[in-house]
Amino acid sequence: MTQTRSRATSLACSLFLLVLAALAVWSVLPPSPRSADAAADEFSAGRAFATVEAVGGEVHPHGTAAAAAVRDTIVADLEELGLDPEVTDGVGMSGRLGDQSRVAATKNVVATIPGTDSTGPVFLVAHYDSAEVSHGANDDGAGVATLLETARALGEGEPLRNDLVLVFTDAEEACLCGAEAFAHADPRAADGGVVVNVEARGSSGPAIMFETSDGNAALVDAYSHVPYPVGSSMAVEVYRILPNDTDFSPFLDDPEGRFTGLNSAYIDGSATYHAPQDTPERMSTASLQHHGANMLALARELGDADAATLATPSADDATYFPLPGGVLARYPGRLVWPLAVAALLAVGALAVAVARRREVRGERTTAGALALGFASALLPLAGAVVGSIALWWVMGLVRPGYDEMLDPWRPWGFRVALLGIVATVWTAWFLGLRRSLGGAALAVGALGWLAVLGVVLAAVTPGGSYLAALPALAGAVAGLLTLRVARGVVGRRVVVTLGAAVGVVLLVPIVLLFFPALGLATGAAPAVVAALLALVLTPVLAVLWPRGRRRALGLVGGCAAVGVVALVVGFVVDPFDAEHPEPTRLAYALDADTGSAHWVSDEGAPSDWTAQFVDTETDLSEPFPMFDGEVHAGDAEAADLPAPVVDVEDAEPAGDARVLTLRVTPGEGAPIGTAGALRYVQLNAAGVESATVAGREVPVGGGALDTRFYAPGDDGFEVTLTVPAGQPLDLRVVAAGGGLEGLPGFVERPTGVGVAGSHTSELVLVGTSVSL
Ligand SMILES: [Zn+2]
Repeated sequence: MTQTRSRATSLACSLFLLVLAALAVWSVLPPSPRSADAAADEFSAGRAFATVEAVGGEVHPHGTAAAAAVRDTIVADLEELGLDPEVTDGVGMSGRLGDQSRVAATKNVVATIPGTDSTGPVFLVAHYDSAEVSHGANDDGAGVATLLETARALGEGEPLRNDLVLVFTDAEEACLCGAEAFAHADPRAADGGVVVNVEARGSSGPAIMFETSDGNAALVDAYSHVPYPVGSSMAVEVYRILPNDTDFSPFLDDPEGRFTGLNSAYIDGSATYHAPQDTPERMSTASLQHHGANMLALARELGDADAATLATPSADDATYFPLPGGVLARYPGRLVWPLAVAALLAVGALAVAVARRREVRGERTTAGALALGFASALLPLAGAVVGSIALWWVMGLVRPGYDEMLDPWRPWGFRVALLGIVATVWTAWFLGLRRSLGGAALAVGALGWLAVLGVVLAAVTPGGSYLAALPALAGAVAGLLTLRVARGVVGRRVVVTLGAAVGVVLLVPIVLLFFPALGLATGAAPAVVAALLALVLTPVLAVLWPRGRRRALGLVGGCAAVGVVALVVGFVVDPFDAEHPEPTRLAYALDADTGSAHWVSDEGAPSDWTAQFVDTETDLSEPFPMFDGEVHAGDAEAADLPAPVVDVEDAEPAGDARVLTLRVTPGEGAPIGTAGALRYVQLNAAGVESATVAGREVPVGGGALDTRFYAPGDDGFEVTLTVPAGQPLDLRVVAAGGGLEGLPGFVERPTGVGVAGSHTSELVLVGTSVSL
């Protein structure tokens, strides 16, 4: 065995893993956008982009004239495709089960592409409204464009078997109310069906199928046939934990369980999310192509399937993940526990075999060394968490505006820095302890944590167990083989490399998908997955990396240098400027009864610009119940803004109670601010027995009314309240508009300071108390 041959093997093994990692990255990248002259039966982002420009040309929240214009465009486009669209008036409600309720009058656009012999409807869903201050080109202009271009391409082929129902929902950003109104009351939804929802929570990146209904095996199987499947059962588990919602939620929450379905979104470039910068120019048309190519294929697949069967949950949730070559690997959920247990047993067997030998390649492998190896292998995982928190802290220290963001505008430098931190901690752990504990004990310890995590995840989030269990199993089997079969240096290296290859293929895409999913603000998630990858690679490091202090320092130092350089690059390439402003949040609240007014901000620590308005922390939740707990506030000049008006239309006794019928109107001179429509009117009261808003019964947990009606027109909306007879009712009424410009004392934002993408940005509140 010459040293040259040994080096060549090491190099080949390292290159093999690098190529594999590159292929794994490539497997979750969006495809190239097709131009406008692509074949007619294909999805073309080039063609679809015209819709994006029409939808995202103006800020168009629910209830505004701009939203009506977008709706008209969709109707016209559908008619041009030879379809028969209908604008359906409904009243949607969210929070049916909670203490808060949110209600909106909605206008969904619905069009059916009739099937030849339908076995049940397939609903393709996207929302056409934007968030309050956002152009909504991506969110959800991308979804609208995807649906329209899909419908066009479908018209070029043979008719499908099932009815495809295109649902362009209203008021998603307000309260998911369009989708709820559709699921609740549209006759086309009465018998349920399969729902495919398309969303965007950013401006770029792969279109990830990130949410499914329960019992997803059959639908995941259907999805696996799309050309660019990107999804992981781990993503489904993570999303179930997060408090986010889309139009998919009202379908999933259907009390009769009539719907099954899939939900996809692209989520990178999240700095634009809900922000004024969510414009057509910012859209990655590759992401749009990814959405569309998959949607078209899925529509064809579901359109010819037995929709009745797919609308019933499967017995199992599938475990699934992307593999290189556009493959979505999947296996039934009932295999999760057997695989997790098999991994644990295999690592256990490896540990016993190694301990029995007492020595592996000149290193002592006593039970004590193995125990310490296992205990110490928690360090790379813990280090990844601590490192990610430290990184975010440093980022906020250098550029405080980051504190209000999920991810910076241009996050890649910082992402590489985080990987550098994980690599530094990992190599320092391994090379630092190698002399005393031995590489074999550390490698077995690393696999041990993967096996333990595989079992823990099987219990907590079964869809994520594969991420730890399969690499542990492969690593342990490879380890056992090196002890019994592959004894030569070359054979040993090849076997250990192949064992780690499984983990590389499984974990690299998840690191990549987790970066945007949770942002660097929650960088611990991708960092931990990267640390799992490091554990997977520990046996490779043990057999490939030569011993010696200088070489060890070289590797650790190299990783640290990558981290530091990437961090510096991250700061240099991502300054706040006109195109990439620092997000700030400011609201204005006027009590019309007392004339007192406040500037309010729920920023964590007010930015320099915000700080000129707010100077104290106050609890304003009594007069303005939309503010939870303490907020930053400062005195403001009272503006001449109308308070909402409550008229009692009827008051009837009903046994021990009285029933009040009220009409709530915005007040003369509203809309407040510049958005062109009132955002909502909120009503709060105690001691209410039951209530309806615009005809929908709303919950009153413990007698507390907490309801909101979005975008009331000049005629307002009707509320009925049943209250105990003989007691006055104190009703707090707050109207919410948007747009701070023109308010007394408001100072324009300088270049480089922008409006944060949030539902409370630029909020203008006028409150009044009414005793009835
Ligand atoms: Zn959206």
